Amino acid sequence: MQITRNDPATGAGPADWFTGAVYVDPVATPSGPSRLSASSVHFTPGARTAWHTHPNGQTIFVTEGVGRCQRRGGPIEVIRPGDRVFFEPGEDHWHGAAPDRFMTHLAMLDVDEAGASATWGEHVSDEEYGKPLG
Ligand code: MN
Repeated sequence: MQITRNDPATGAGPADWFTGAVYVDPVATPSGPSRLSASSVHFTPGARTAWHTHPNGQTIFVTEGVGRCQRRGGPIEVIRPGDRVFFEPGEDHWHGAAPDRFMTHLAMLDVDEAGASATWGEHVSDEEYGKPLG
């Protein structure tokens, strides 16, 4: 058993991966045979990930606020606390906050053999983000 106490040093999400201000708190880090990676991700209003894929898919569980998510070619969806979204392995997508709301989700995935959690693409433009909801 190992307890990691609540650490005040939240990390800012890298600008290459996000638009707007995003903060990430690690929850589970791959270790030994475990490939589980989990993070609590806090999006400020209007902030969102870039387009990306996950080698083994990803589940997000919304804990606070109101968010948005979209898979490539699909409608923009509203997500709220208690909603769970699974993105298939290799499915191109983004997730983030609503324009006028914060959003926090727990993000869970299994990294690949090389330890990679995602492949990152271009940022979600303001035009893409601002499209009418599906
Ligand atoms: Mn994702």
